[in-house]
Amino acid sequence: MADSIIVLDRDGVINLDSPDYIKSADEWVPLPGSIQAIASLSQAGHKIYVATNQAGLARQKFYLTDLEAMHAKLLRLVGAAGGQVEKIFFCPHHPDAACECRKPRPGLLNQIRQFHPGTIGTLTFVGDSVKDIDAAIAGNAEPVLVLTGNGTATLKVVQQRALAIEVYSDLAAFAKARISAFPL
Ligand SMILES: [Mg+2]
Ligand SMILES: [Zn+2]
Repeated sequence: MADSIIVLDRDGVINLDSPDYIKSADEWVPLPGSIQAIASLSQAGHKIYVATNQAGLARQKFYLTDLEAMHAKLLRLVGAAGGQVEKIFFCPHHPDAACECRKPRPGLLNQIRQFHPGTIGTLTFVGDSVKDIDAAIAGNAEPVLVLTGNGTATLKVVQQRALAIEVYSDLAAFAKARISAFPL
């Protein structure tokens, strides 16, 4: 059977975002219900990945060891809730670097397609920013918007562009709807 892949943006979707960057595991604070939402999707059979821009690395706001500690925390919390994240993909580059992986480019989604060991049926990308929506479209994924983080501002752009995409109040609402609509 082909796998249902759900890719999540990180900041503003799973954890609280900050204009000053999230620089340490202590600053990495989950949004209410997000960890349980990931665990529920995972338990329902969806394969969960994370795709995140982390230009703070290139700007030396924090270092790779800090990012690894944040992601260890994320994986630990999801694991403790009974779920699994397959892998976290990140873009470490500066916005001026014109790399292939920084969203809105589809490089991270392409990396996930190459990495995933099974046959991919559907690929959904859940984000809170215009960059996420555009990366999903460029990467032939289904974009989903959540209204946490930058989501409210992004919704205005989505409406201006008349994009017909699914919108949820937060990751927990998305998970609940997806699990009941598509029992695997
Ligand atoms: Mg975000
Ligand atoms: Zn990059």
